[in-house]
Amino acid sequence: MNELGDLYQEIILDHYKRPRNAGRLQEPSCSAAGDNPLCGDKISVTVRTAGDRIEDIRWNGAGCAISTASASLMSEAVKGKSKPEFEALFDRFHAMVTGTGGSEGLDKLEVFSGVSEFPVRVKCASLAWHTLKAALEGKNDTVSTE
Ligand code: ZN
Repeated sequence: MNELGDLYQEIILDHYKRPRNAGRLQEPSCSAAGDNPLCGDKISVTVRTAGDRIEDIRWNGAGCAISTASASLMSEAVKGKSKPEFEALFDRFHAMVTGTGGSEGLDKLEVFSGVSEFPVRVKCASLAWHTLKAALEGKNDTVSTE
């Protein structure tokens, strides 16, 4: 992970060691599971929505530092957002980690900008996002990055 830079690495390790919003909501409005077999990352997301707004989110997972930190940072970034706002943020995040877009407006999520150089890591960083998207779209199948 040295390739991601010291400051970014520090933030990622902080979220890996002290994940935010970890757990599971009682009676969620929607949920989904995600699987990244390439790295062995697994995640499940439970969401409570009010109208089209993400009121609360919890996630459970086991995986590498990047996937765990990404789920943690995502959970902070999306809380209170509407579904269209989430989708716009997802698109910007995805563009950044795949190297087709910059990090403008992504705030702390910028710590994942370095993964664009490492295709295997892109899947780790985006697993939680794909899983949340599936949950909001009402898809109950497990999302796989493969
Ligand atoms: Zn991973």
